[in-house]
Amino acid sequence: EAKTSGRDAARVFDVSIDLAIRERQSLEQHLRLALERGEFCLHYQPQVDAQNQQVVGVEALLRWHSAELGEVSPTRFIPVAEECGLIQPIGRWVMNEAFRQKAAWEALGLDALDLSINLSAAQLADPELVGLVQHCIERHGCDPTRMVLEITESHLMADPVAASEKLLAIKALGLQLSIDDFGTGYSSLAYLKRFPIDELKIDQSFVQSMLDDEADLAIVRSIIALGHALGLRLVGEGVEHQQQAIQLKALGCDELQGYYFSRPLSARALEQHVFQEPKKLEHRHACV
Ligand code: C2E
Ligand code: MG
Ligand code: MG
Ligand code: MG
Repeated sequence: EAKTSGRDAARVFDVSIDLAIRERQSLEQHLRLALERGEFCLHYQPQVDAQNQQVVGVEALLRWHSAELGEVSPTRFIPVAEECGLIQPIGRWVMNEAFRQKAAWEALGLDALDLSINLSAAQLADPELVGLVQHCIERHGCDPTRMVLEITESHLMADPVAASEKLLAIKALGLQLSIDDFGTGYSSLAYLKRFPIDELKIDQSFVQSMLDDEADLAIVRSIIALGHALGLRLVGEGVEHQQQAIQLKALGCDELQGYYFSRPLSARALEQHVFQEPKKLEHRHACV
């Protein structure tokens, strides 16, 4: 009996692994074609000043609309792109597109706006990264001090010495640096002091549970105190409810980002619904 059910379980397991492998291969095959087919675009999520809710920046978030697979989330395809070496060309496309869009917005007079770009570990390790950033500045001619590179905490800590050299070189080009998903990795506080960073983004898991969980509230409060003691700007991510925005503001968080203010939007939708409007982004729920 036990043997039979064990074998059945093993078979189910094999089948599901097999399916996962085939799905992964299919994703990779379609991903290889996505760039040349022009299936990527960037959406942008507003970041607001916690004091007056004015939009002070946007974060570029990659979107893939595959002809065969439909919309695929970056949480699914970015890890695959990293594994199969596609993150470099995709990352180059993202960087160029973000700089191009920033220059276009500057030409429209929207110059007091920061634009954040996400970098994955493999991009940070790429020896071409600094050259790519320099190329994008020269090619598109936008203000480099308004460009922000976001790197997750765990990626930075994987090789902190190499990372800090890379960060210094990027800093020297004028860009700002931000640590994404802060609080979920294992930062050495000594390195935090040594990295030439400007901003910490409090991971959304803490923001989303801080109203129900005393420990999470204490963590958020501590991250803000630590960040401010180090002279950094604090951004609260994943703000979905007004109470979270009020709490973060009360704790001294500098900027807020989340569905409560706006979902990530296409550049066009942002221009029409956010930049046009008299500044404030209050109760702006889901347009898309
Ligand atoms: P991230 O950089 O931490 O981006 C924040 C994610 O949270 C985004 O998911 C955003 O849409 C989502 N989000 C924003 N506000 C809220 C909220 O109020 N509630 C909830 N539940 N979620 C919210 P998205 O766009 O699916 O991106 C997921 C991750 O994929 C990003 O996390 C980032 O690590 C990665 N990613 C996205 N675009 C790029 C890219 O161009 N390059 C690289 N290397 N990674 C990227
Ligand atoms: Mg910002
Ligand atoms: Mg990010
Ligand atoms: Mg994040």
